[in-house]
Amino acid sequence: MVFRPPDERREELIAVYREMCDSHACPLRGVRTKLVFGAGNADADLMFVGEAPGASEDQQGLPFVGRAGKLLDQLLEEVGLERGDVFITNVLKCRPPGNRDPLPDEIDICGPYLYRQIELIEPKVICTLGNFATKLLTGRPEGITKVHGRPQEREVAGRVVLLYPLFHPAAALRTDSVRELLREDIAKLPALLAEHTEEEAESGEAEQMDLFK
Ligand code: URA
Repeated sequence: MVFRPPDERREELIAVYREMCDSHACPLRGVRTKLVFGAGNADADLMFVGEAPGASEDQQGLPFVGRAGKLLDQLLEEVGLERGDVFITNVLKCRPPGNRDPLPDEIDICGPYLYRQIELIEPKVICTLGNFATKLLTGRPEGITKVHGRPQEREVAGRVVLLYPLFHPAAALRTDSVRELLREDIAKLPALLAEHTEEEAESGEAEQMDLFK
């Protein structure tokens, strides 16, 4: 694997954002308010991938800033993590009308940008939130109820990463038992992360590079 300095990767990530703003061929382009590219530490070891922006995200151009995002923030805080430590994005970068499910052709058009983000951020662990992100990145049909909380190593965008599927926070807002399962799975994150970032921590390489905070 060729070493690329974090600032170089961050610059390229910003170029990908600009490219999406200028020429993203998503069928939702005409009905969204703002493109929601993603935000957080552009050199994060931990990345979260949700489904698609909702109404608040569409207005602000930032991921997970509505009720589901507040719950995610709270659960992360409970285990000592905050947004500045992670990078958060979605499978789709444009809001589907009425928050309907993403369509296959929308995922096909947005997917390559997600892979580009992963390639440039170089996360060690990716939490997939809900069915769409989980099925896309695992490449498997098993749904979130079956695979949540089970880490699985996969090659994504040419890199071996640990995928850690979690229930979507919006589902956790609707059902108490799902919220508890999400909380239990998130409680295991710090240990998982420590295990997979040990080598880097030893070499003192980790550095924070914020994007769109
Ligand atoms: N749900 C998502 O999947 N993503 C967001 O950014 C907000 C809500």
